[in-house]
Amino acid sequence: MTDRVPAVEIPILVRRRPPVLLAVEGLTKRFFSDEAAAVEDVSFTVAEGELVSLLGPSGCGKTTTLRLVGGFETPDTGRISLRGRDITHLPPEKRGIGFVFQDYALFPQLTVLENVKFGLRNMPRAEADKRAREMLGLVNLADLASRRPHELSGGQQQRVALARTLAVAPPLVLLDEPFSNLDAAMRVETRQEVRAMLKQAGSSAILVTHDQEEALALSDRIAVMEGGRIRQIGTPAQIYREPVSEFVASFIGRSNILPAQATGGSAETIFGNLALAREAAGDVAVAVRPEQITLQPDPAGSGTVVGREFRGHDQLYWVRAGGRTVLVIAGPFPIIETGTRVRLEVCDCVVPLSG
Ligand code: ADP
Ligand code: MG
Repeated sequence: MTDRVPAVEIPILVRRRPPVLLAVEGLTKRFFSDEAAAVEDVSFTVAEGELVSLLGPSGCGKTTTLRLVGGFETPDTGRISLRGRDITHLPPEKRGIGFVFQDYALFPQLTVLENVKFGLRNMPRAEADKRAREMLGLVNLADLASRRPHELSGGQQQRVALARTLAVAPPLVLLDEPFSNLDAAMRVETRQEVRAMLKQAGSSAILVTHDQEEALALSDRIAVMEGGRIRQIGTPAQIYREPVSEFVASFIGRSNILPAQATGGSAETIFGNLALAREAAGDVAVAVRPEQITLQPDPAGSGTVVGREFRGHDQLYWVRAGGRTVLVIAGPFPIIETGTRVRLEVCDCVVPLSG
């Protein structure tokens, strides 16, 4: 008898990425020759069934990018292909892409149901009716099927527009700030419904938003835009955990940006020597998330609480340490009063930034 442990074969799980649906390569659009480009050298892909958000501040080129993909603008340079077919110069109606306009674009003389059925004209009547009612149910508007657009709130109109676009199950849906007319509670509820609807329909989507929380909550991947360019693209977790630049680190969530001297995998900071998420060398800035910092009351500590904001589920503290003020997010209790001396510690690695 031997104690030989049988060799266990560890299965290698290869997660196959779904095939690319949309490929955008080197897209540039300049509205005026003497001004900066609205969209500059933008490249990204959307996989089958994937939901990609374009996230960035107002004027960064999100809508223009979306309109280029939809065919409502012509790029100066670059190429757009859908399932391998070059669609760069096709008119919108030949692209097979659904678009939810920011201003709804509903037909005022048609009822809600008729609006949703509009794209289903080629379907047998009963089937179209059933499908349209299903879509209205999904956007919580089943009871308002016989109203006309002017009898609805802005948010309700937006959901009719969404139902109308999704009814035809286009391979790709473009949504420009689709939740901007909903109140905060409705927005949270609706965005998960919309995600579920898209997934159920098997439609890919590009969603434009300036709301980072929305992008984080909803997207499979996020493209962060600034000044007409994509600055970073990745899953919400990647973007949040490993922002590449100060802009991304500050635009998505909150960050303490600290000077540091890096040597390979670690860096010297006001919090001592910290592990880096990626190697760096020399003088760099590092991003430390407020929830990565813990604080303990300690008379010998190096920090002093200079402000706090109770938020119920957590508490923000502003702590003066090492000649600067850092933001810390801690549990709501125990409350540490302003003026208390505290010891600060950073858990997890921090991110060196470029630019
Ligand atoms: P976002 O949707 O991110 O707020 P836009 O794509 O709408 O940004 O705009 C990007 C830039 O392009 C802005 O400077 C805007 O003023 C300009 N722009 C957008 N559309 C037009 C247009 N039709 N004509 C001229 N300039 C435009
Ligand atoms: Mg816009």
